[in-house]
Amino acid sequence: MPEPGPLGLFGGTFDPVHLGHLRLAEEAREALGLASVRWIPAGQPPHRGAPRLSGAHRLAMVRLAVAGNPAFQVDGAEVESTGPSYTVTTLERLRQELGPEQPLVLLLGADAFAGLPGWHRWQALLGLAHLVVLHRPGYPLASEVLAPELGQLLAARQAGDPARLAGAPAGAILALPMTQLDISATHIRQLLAAGRSARYLLPPAVLDYIDQHQLYRNKSNP
Ligand code: ATP
Repeated sequence: MPEPGPLGLFGGTFDPVHLGHLRLAEEAREALGLASVRWIPAGQPPHRGAPRLSGAHRLAMVRLAVAGNPAFQVDGAEVESTGPSYTVTTLERLRQELGPEQPLVLLLGADAFAGLPGWHRWQALLGLAHLVVLHRPGYPLASEVLAPELGQLLAARQAGDPARLAGAPAGAILALPMTQLDISATHIRQLLAAGRSARYLLPPAVLDYIDQHQLYRNKSNP
């Protein structure tokens, strides 16, 4: 069934989920008038190293993080599937489920956008969804630093106005400012491995889960 507004899709390893992710989804939802945001933790992301934690733990933490926000939903299909996770395959599944008219908006931090040319069938993504790129500290969105094919795509498909996204099912790129939070899962893993506090970087319920299960304590490979 189609949703009554553009549907936001937010993928990531979420290893662990943190306040940078939550603010990104909340600010995008508000700025773009999204009906809701579906969080899609990756199973085995093929374009980067294996996540530290199992999909089950990462999914459980995302569920705890978004609990209480009725506009946030969690899609566990990538974690539950046994094959590699490809965003393009997930978008094809959602397009099938929601029909050809539903505006879909893939939310990406600027670092993820810069890495897009390494993704499986990345050029098919814009045929399936709009791309909204959120600014992130340390990752400028300037064409000088983007791969040439990405810079060209950005110039050709850039939608200045968020309202345009609701008028088409897919195909536009929008850069969106957000409160700049220099938080990364890598840094959180490093803090926890060093026995240091990660409080106020991620939701208390997620930190409690990490403590209860004694996660990220191993100093190797944070
Ligand atoms: P890691 O440090 O393990 O690479 P991460 O903190 O970048 O993890 P991911 O799960 O890889 O988190 O990110 C999911 C999505 O959220 C990506 O599109 C990423 O660009 C975006 N993102 C993560 N943290 C931030 C942040 N602080 N500000 C803006 N975007 C972010």
